[in-house]
Amino acid sequence: MTDTLNASPSASALMAKSEAVLDLLTEAAASGAAVLANSLSAEDMVLTDLIVRAGLPIRIVTLDTGMLPKESLALIEQANRHFGITIEVFSPEQSAVADFVQAQGSAYSFYDSLAARKACCALRKIAPLDRALVGASAWITGMRRDQAESRGGLPETDRDQARAIGKYNPLASWSWDEVLAYAAAWNVPMNALYQRGYVSIGCDPCTRALKAGEHPRMGRWWWESDAAGKECGLHVS
Ligand code: SF4
Repeated sequence: MTDTLNASPSASALMAKSEAVLDLLTEAAASGAAVLANSLSAEDMVLTDLIVRAGLPIRIVTLDTGMLPKESLALIEQANRHFGITIEVFSPEQSAVADFVQAQGSAYSFYDSLAARKACCALRKIAPLDRALVGASAWITGMRRDQAESRGGLPETDRDQARAIGKYNPLASWSWDEVLAYAAAWNVPMNALYQRGYVSIGCDPCTRALKAGEHPRMGRWWWESDAAGKECGLHVS
């Protein structure tokens, strides 16, 4: 790790933070059946890189909501090739989606109300995550404190009370610049949408590029006015 990161101006700080993340990942792996919920973000690709290079026994899963941008779907294949792994893909039950769309009258009812949006996220994200975490002893996320006001108090180690398992946020203290510096140093595969002004990337119809000066979270569910409510429900503290 030392040689590559020494090329960066903040190499020593980044290396120290990377080592701290590895310690947390190792602790998670020691819990017995840890799972990285890889959202295909730059942060989760950094974690994937650390897990793979350290050879840690951590399952890597992602959620295909059926609404992902084609760039995110392409990244799954690219990451599999780059890391020599097979990311496990969990999707919503097709019959449940069909029932939901029929009941809502549209696959895009999430634009109509917060309740409809939360229901869509519950169906397309939370339910598949629940299946992905069956049997897990802990799960790992790429969340960072400065991503959103609602994440300002994010701990590095936590407890998922609902699932009664551990939860790790090893990049909680990282800045976006540190994520980018690590990704550049290690040639980590990245979503092509980052090159087009996207910062926080989720489902295609609910994500847009940022305008100048906007908070990163403004790219998600942009039609909703409550910035603190811009969460899909995956991360209930
Ligand atoms: S982000 Fe949008 S499309 Fe994706 S699950 Fe949530 S409401 Fe549905």
